[in-house]
Amino acid sequence: MNYFTKDKPYNSLNEYYKRTYGKKVAKIPLNGWFTCPNRDGTKGVGGCTFCSKQGSGEFAGDIRKNIRDQFLEVKNVMEAKWPDTLYMPYFQAYTNTYAKLDYLKEIYDEALNVIPEKTIGISIATRGDCITEEIAEYLGELNKKTHVQVELGLQTANEATSKRINRCMTNYEFIKALTLLRNQNIEVIAHIINGLPGETIDDNLNTIDFINSRDIQGIKFHSLLLLKDTAIADEYEKNPFHILTKEEYVEITALQIAHLRDDIIIHRLAADAKADDLIEPKWTIRKLTVMNDIDKFMRKNNMHQGMFYKPSISEYFSEE
Ligand code: SF4
Repeated sequence: MNYFTKDKPYNSLNEYYKRTYGKKVAKIPLNGWFTCPNRDGTKGVGGCTFCSKQGSGEFAGDIRKNIRDQFLEVKNVMEAKWPDTLYMPYFQAYTNTYAKLDYLKEIYDEALNVIPEKTIGISIATRGDCITEEIAEYLGELNKKTHVQVELGLQTANEATSKRINRCMTNYEFIKALTLLRNQNIEVIAHIINGLPGETIDDNLNTIDFINSRDIQGIKFHSLLLLKDTAIADEYEKNPFHILTKEEYVEITALQIAHLRDDIIIHRLAADAKADDLIEPKWTIRKLTVMNDIDKFMRKNNMHQGMFYKPSISEYFSEE
């Protein structure tokens, strides 16, 4: 089954939710006061080089407020735009499974119970090395009662780039977490970044190949954002590397979609940041324009998701 429309020749998240729940579902970004093993020294220090001081959660809820108040604050804004919408709390900032299980239970439960009658599930962003068997089992139980989505940061399938951006996690760890989650029937979304230093279109398509050949249900496309006070901004200042133009990003992403398996849901097409924090690329500020340009590019070139998909040989290899 696919969720293509005339305007969007791919599985857009909106269409997926509309056909599954009969109406719009809005994500409520929240801040659960987590940290990250790539910041506290457990796996690494300093974090991924692109990650901001807010743990890539610039639009997550206000850290000074409790979960209920964060939820209600965002919900009121959403409700003004879309009065008849359902909600999905989204734990976004830092690594949202990096804590004791009791804490996870408490905080997820709180988010799911602010407006239970309008909350269809929960979305949790994390790293592959922060999914234990115990956490996966708990999420599996939760998934029997509500719709659980776990977003795993991959960024790239190229391990050399992954070292350069200090991801401090191997592809194998990503795959291990994926297996634990899929054994519990949990929907998994891979988060990738286009425009990482040194990467070519071949790397971008290899990352899609890596995703295609695994049991992954969703993808988020992100352009590299150079934010103030990040390690990658320092690297760029000392040793500038190519920053994608909007046209390049549009073309790369459209091509990736054309190579993407046609059952995978696209949760995000472009990323933005707060204008004050952004160094480059400035065109990302106009996120809606970027998304529309990808749609236009695909329509103009008669493209649709999966048109270039080929099962990859990597499906038949073990990962270790
Ligand atoms: S894993 Fe996520 S939170 Fe941790 S440093 Fe990388 S981007 Fe930031």
